[in-house]
Amino acid sequence: MDTLTSISPIEAIEPVNTPVNQQAQQSGKEKWLGGRPLGAVWQHFSRKSKVSPGKFEAECKYCSKTWKRGEVPILEEHLASHCSNVPRLVLREYIQKVGARENISNKKRKLDKSTTGQTTITAFHDSSDLPEARTNRINRALVKFFVCCGISYKIVEHLLFLDLLKELNAGYDPPTREYLSGCLLETELCVINDKIEEDIMNQQNLTLALDGWTSGRHQSIWNFVILTPSRKEYLYQLLDLLSNLHTAEFLAVKIEDVIEKIGPNRISAIVSDNAANVKKARAIISEKYPRIENVRCISHCINLIACDIVCHTFADRLLRKNRYR
Ligand SMILES: [Zn+2]
Repeated sequence: MDTLTSISPIEAIEPVNTPVNQQAQQSGKEKWLGGRPLGAVWQHFSRKSKVSPGKFEAECKYCSKTWKRGEVPILEEHLASHCSNVPRLVLREYIQKVGARENISNKKRKLDKSTTGQTTITAFHDSSDLPEARTNRINRALVKFFVCCGISYKIVEHLLFLDLLKELNAGYDPPTREYLSGCLLETELCVINDKIEEDIMNQQNLTLALDGWTSGRHQSIWNFVILTPSRKEYLYQLLDLLSNLHTAEFLAVKIEDVIEKIGPNRISAIVSDNAANVKKARAIISEKYPRIENVRCISHCINLIACDIVCHTFADRLLRKNRYR
């Protein structure tokens, strides 16, 4: 945590003197050769080769992720929701920044902009402009519905879905598929993450639960879930650790990373199944943080007991007998 405090506020950081700028100063020109100045977000990214005027390849200074063309909104979203190593102060700043975005760049769908004389879907409905705040509320509800119900983003452009929206409120102009799955999703992600963070940071006696499994795409997924005393469960972190050896020491480092981000004083217990590496990792954590209880998952125990019971010939016979009743 103390490494985080070394990060200066955005305003305090001087603009980076790029070769492009140096060239401009040497030639007596004060103007930025690339056109508009690059955004403040660039202080967290290394500027690589220039790809077009004012546009550069980018590399995150914290996690080394690279982009062929660094666009400010994408870089901001990376810091807010996707960077694995971003300092806490920077994370907070960009969660709030992205979460507070307004839908000012909401692109109107081509359908509505048609000037070719063809009949548009809106021609069948009355239309009146909605206040921006109302549109934002509908957009948020829309993105939550698509994500939580597992609906394909392309449905937002389906004519029947558009017809339904227009019947419900003719003044609402739905987002494009790209805008829904990009900007709106990222903005909502930040709003939700901000709320989760606030809730976690206002609680004590939290439990950290973790488990790992192999996905259908052969990724080694590890989850870190925070349980609150009021029985809320928050998926705090999801990592693909395929390229790492899952030794107890390695897992302990990952667990410790989560504990330090949340604050060791807020966590009272760590729970997992009893695989040898995880069990040892729990022990390492418990030794380093004596107030964190080392707990074996009771659900996992019951699962193992149930598996042993159904393997018994008596239980097997009983189950087969009852299957056909
Ligand atoms: Zn990063």
